[in-house]
Amino acid sequence: MNVRDSEHIIAELKEKENYTLSNDASNADLILINTCSVREKPVSKLFSEIGVFNKKKKPGAKIGVCGCSASHLGEEIFKRAPEVNFVLGARNVSKISQAIKEDKFLSVDIDYDESSYAFGEFRSSSYKAFVNISIGCDKKCTYCIVPNTRGEEISIPADLIAKEAEIATKNGAKEIFLLGQNVNNYGRRFSDKSHKKMDFSDLLEMISQIDEVQRIRFTSPHPLHMDDKFLSMFASNPKVCKSMHMPLQSGSTRVLEQMKRGYSKEWFLNRALKLREMIPEVSISTDIIVGFPGESEEDFKDTLDVVRQVRFEQIFSFKYSPRPLTRAAEFTNQVDPKVASARLQQLQELQQSILDEISQKHLNRVYEVYFEEKRDNGMLAGRSDNNALVQVEGKDEWLGEIKKVKITNPKRLSLYGEVVI
Ligand code: SF4
Repeated sequence: MNVRDSEHIIAELKEKENYTLSNDASNADLILINTCSVREKPVSKLFSEIGVFNKKKKPGAKIGVCGCSASHLGEEIFKRAPEVNFVLGARNVSKISQAIKEDKFLSVDIDYDESSYAFGEFRSSSYKAFVNISIGCDKKCTYCIVPNTRGEEISIPADLIAKEAEIATKNGAKEIFLLGQNVNNYGRRFSDKSHKKMDFSDLLEMISQIDEVQRIRFTSPHPLHMDDKFLSMFASNPKVCKSMHMPLQSGSTRVLEQMKRGYSKEWFLNRALKLREMIPEVSISTDIIVGFPGESEEDFKDTLDVVRQVRFEQIFSFKYSPRPLTRAAEFTNQVDPKVASARLQQLQELQQSILDEISQKHLNRVYEVYFEEKRDNGMLAGRSDNNALVQVEGKDEWLGEIKKVKITNPKRLSLYGEVVI
């Protein structure tokens, strides 16, 4: 979401204010820091970054702080860092032109509705196009600060999404990556009440009918909204890539209730295993928080149990970090950080052993790989339909092409192979 917000800001500044991008902070007229606040570390880094840029910047250059930390810290940023010229919240991106012109501009309104704003066109990759399909989030997960920084959920009108996808593919992107906090809750609320009723499955179908779109990915779907209609559409539409992110957070139904996630361990397992049954080649990734307040050894065992049963292809795992403005930060049964660290290590070791086993199943398989990047090691890298990172020795002109690759050397984090067609 932040990457796409940055692209929107750049597009607005290029098209409306004649700015160009610079990678030299000491020569820039404007320095923007687009911030995250999901965990504590990036927030503490913000003020040291401001200090670094303040020393580097040329006289008269402005510094702006954007994104989720801007939303939740607001005015406090000016107090702690008076050198900052403006603060622009995650839901106020369209006001960037105004922000650069006014002194001490502050806009962090989380009710501001940008869902129908047609941003200019800028993409950091010409191969893959991120397209927002909603803003905000209506869930109230007790550990999460996002509803306080991005406001309530509003779906972006389908015609705007389709238009963006069409422009991106005309400019060379073969893959459309749909973004939202809860993509499969799409259609719950539109600003324009007369908008045609449409859910996420309908939206996927609509985007897949654009001829130039060859691949569709999305993140993040919510396990609660993984109904049969959604799973069938996911399985049967050939343009929808067969990789699913299913944020588990915890394998314990008791902890999930405390987190207010809205599903149980059994529901999650039912959906994940049904996916595996419907699409044997599917890859499933997840997010897991260990050490959530009150998490017992038994609860943690439930998480390990889900990991063993689902055998995720990728896990993003974190120690619980109390965030301001969240209910869980006030829970009195916080877990000892040492216990949480030990659990994190145990979880990651289990995952490494699963990955060692999983990676071998790729040997001699042939995947369609979309080459997007030339790596520092000189190899071309891309993703298979089911999201495995694949690297080959190849020609630069293959960038932006989809080619068949036979896997000859599967490693835990990347598969190596050779192009067969
Ligand atoms: S679904 Fe929960 S975790 Fe995800 S953004 Fe919304 S509140 Fe945060």
